[in-house]
Amino acid sequence: MITRKCEMCGREFQTASNRAKYCQYCRGEVQIQRNRAYAEKKKSGTSVSIGSEQVCPLCGKTYKVTSGSQKYCTECTSNQKRKKAPPNTGYLKEHYDYIRMNVPKGEREKIKEYADSLGLSVNKLLLIALEEFKENHKDDPKK
Ligand SMILES: [Zn+2]
Ligand SMILES: [Zn+2]
Repeated sequence: MITRKCEMCGREFQTASNRAKYCQYCRGEVQIQRNRAYAEKKKSGTSVSIGSEQVCPLCGKTYKVTSGSQKYCTECTSNQKRKKAPPNTGYLKEHYDYIRMNVPKGEREKIKEYADSLGLSVNKLLLIALEEFKENHKDDPKK
């Protein structure tokens, strides 16, 4: 056994290894700190750095990170927020029934853009279109 001085607390301690730097008390401390440093490094490695390019897990588009907690592209982030606080759901439930509609692949964006260009919501546009259809096909709806 050799006597060494602990690099942490200065206490002398007995050890069989001449590479030992710390006494038995500090060894635990040092290990804890090492673990903590490792955990922090690991954490910062997985968290995104501001200004870096990331792929949005929702839409697959690449986006530039503007804040440390950002997980999705700006578009999806605002969509997520909108989902969390749906506007007037109470009102909608009370006054409307919901129809789930399928549109041909790729048409959704076109319909949205068309509605946008008219200053209407897609919903409104479809309701107006339906009214017009009824108006124009009073006699034979199949024509
Ligand atoms: Zn010590
Ligand atoms: Zn996205």
